[in-house]
Amino acid sequence: MSNQSTFDEERKNMVEFQIQKRGIKDRKVLEAMLKVPRHLFVPEQMKELAYGDEPLPIGEGQTISQPYIVAYMTEALKLTGNERVLEIGTGSGYQTAILAEIVKEVYTVEVIPELSRRAQKVLAELGYNNIKFLIGDGTRGWPEHAPYDAILVSAAPATVPRTLVDQLKINGRMIIPVGTDFQELVLVRRKKDGWEEERLIGVRFVPLVTIH
Ligand code: SAH
Repeated sequence: MSNQSTFDEERKNMVEFQIQKRGIKDRKVLEAMLKVPRHLFVPEQMKELAYGDEPLPIGEGQTISQPYIVAYMTEALKLTGNERVLEIGTGSGYQTAILAEIVKEVYTVEVIPELSRRAQKVLAELGYNNIKFLIGDGTRGWPEHAPYDAILVSAAPATVPRTLVDQLKINGRMIIPVGTDFQELVLVRRKKDGWEEERLIGVRFVPLVTIH
């Protein structure tokens, strides 16, 4: 039987053993992950598994990312609190909540309407009022609100999409999984002319779909 205090306990353990132990130090990231009730972002029948060290199915053939990966990607953006961040791939809305705990505003784009609607409902019930949602193709970004201080992409394109880099502020950062069979997280830093890429760790994400 799981009740609220069991979930709180599991969440503390998740942060200590899966996240801090593996080297995540950013206080803002750790605090956000201690706070956001991850079990509310997974399907009812998966609640008991919500704090496990793994991704989980969320329906529509998609997955909620492993907690460590959420922490790792968020830390890589070096957020201070005043940022406006674009997220591509709302999915369950869990990563969206982590970002919304830390920054001023989150703009999140999801291509599957059912997933976006479900995430909107959960995030509204939790009281977040600094998130804007768009249903559509995230490979186009969300130009109306650009430029962003940071971009977090949670589905993998074959190469870094130029359109997204163009929506970053100069010196802005983007964390994005890149590749097909073999994928890596890439940290992109936008420069005055062009951008720099740093390859981080190997990962496994669903593909970023392109709509023609
Ligand atoms: N951060 C999310 C990850 C969800 S998986 C979570 O933790 O729940 C990746 C998501 O990206 C899926 O919901 C998928 O539908 C979405 N996606 C894939 N291609 C996309 C695109 N072109 N535009 C927007 N979202 C996309």
